[in-house]
Amino acid sequence: MTKKEFLACAARIFREIDQNTVHLPEEDVDIPVLMPPVIGIAGAEDPLYEEFLKAEVIGPEFKKPGFWLEGAQSVAAFFFPFSEEIKVRRRASKEPNDESWAYGYVKKDEIVNTFLDRLIAAIREMGFDALDPVRDPRMERRVETVNIGGTEDMHVSIAWSTRHICYVAGLGTFGIHRHIITEKGCMGTLGTLVMTLPLPADRRPYTGVYEYCSNCGVCIDACPAGAITKENYRNLIQCSSFAASLKEVYHSGYCGRCMVGVPCESRNPKAFPKSILIKDTTREQRMMIVKKSLEVCGQECEFCNGCDNLGGGRTETYFQPYIDGLKELREINAEYHGGTVV
Ligand code: SF4
Ligand code: SF4
Repeated sequence: MTKKEFLACAARIFREIDQNTVHLPEEDVDIPVLMPPVIGIAGAEDPLYEEFLKAEVIGPEFKKPGFWLEGAQSVAAFFFPFSEEIKVRRRASKEPNDESWAYGYVKKDEIVNTFLDRLIAAIREMGFDALDPVRDPRMERRVETVNIGGTEDMHVSIAWSTRHICYVAGLGTFGIHRHIITEKGCMGTLGTLVMTLPLPADRRPYTGVYEYCSNCGVCIDACPAGAITKENYRNLIQCSSFAASLKEVYHSGYCGRCMVGVPCESRNPKAFPKSILIKDTTREQRMMIVKKSLEVCGQECEFCNGCDNLGGGRTETYFQPYIDGLKELREINAEYHGGTVV
């Protein structure tokens, strides 16, 4: 199985999951929960695994891919963004938790597990093997109290960390809120598979652990528990005790305010220049701005017109003058909505 075939197989399996919706009792609607995953591949012998064994990173409890699966050759890492339906509701809500987030957050695990189980079955049909360490009975964790910058915090030394594996697989880096920030942002959920499939590892387009975090501090102000600081990042004791208080009131306890309405919610904030004006951007940056802006449905734009582009034809064409440095985006948009684009 080539990497292209693996990615196509994963995309098809995700599309065919029919339980990717959740019912919101108060609104009495069904909404989608997750978007198709961004996928990265890590090698089974990456030197970073040795780093993870250090107490200040994960700790000696961490187990390398070969521990989980004999003959492991690669590790697949998946980031599933939450649906726009959930993001819109979560952004609009002023409550510590809300119906779409509480129910969607619980439902996500069932969807991810179904996806991983079906992918494991497809890999086995091809004569290879795969395993999800998170649900393996050998999965262990040791929680200890540590002092970080004079404040009591919690360190979890764990046999397998999906966040760290996503970093190895080139999906993204950590933010100060300790979520992984990918090219599709941080508001999503993760999954991993150790595989005997000999797939080539993806290149990591970063070297720094916090490289995609712009250090803007918006997540600090968003956190109702005051659990995030620029110096010590997210304090797990404060975060989890706030979650426990929510669980007494809502369907689930995780608040996730640090993920929503922040610059890293749905994109890598470092990838976008501060200004989108022609004078402040290179041609490459303008190409990236157009490409990212067209991904309104969470996918690469396939020009299906499903985003209601007013019958304007192929969307990449009418942004070409911006890419070429001839017209600003606002001029093109004004012409477009004024009906003067031909
Ligand atoms: S909101 Fe800003 S500071 Fe916080 S993790 Fe995202 S990019 Fe970093
Ligand atoms: S999940 Fe909520 S309580 Fe925890 S750090 Fe994020 S915003 Fe704060």
